[in-house]
Amino acid sequence: MKRMKRCRSCGKYTLKPDCCGQQATTAHPPKYSPQDKYAAYRRREKYGEMEQSRVEK
Ligand SMILES: [Zn+2]
Repeated sequence: MKRMKRCRSCGKYTLKPDCCGQQATTAHPPKYSPQDKYAAYRRREKYGEMEQSRVEK
C-alpha cells in the first residue's frame, strides 16, 4: 500500500519519497498534531524574544 506524501516546497502530493530536492512529508499525519506542538514552540520562542528585548531595554 502506497501512502501519499506531500512536498513541503511546492505543496503538491506525490508518491515519491522526495520532491523539489526535499524529503516529502506524509500527507496523513498520526493522531497527535505535530503542527500544534510546533506552534507552541514558536509561540514560546516569540514570547521569549519579546521578553529578552524588553530586558535589554
Ligand atoms: Zn515539490
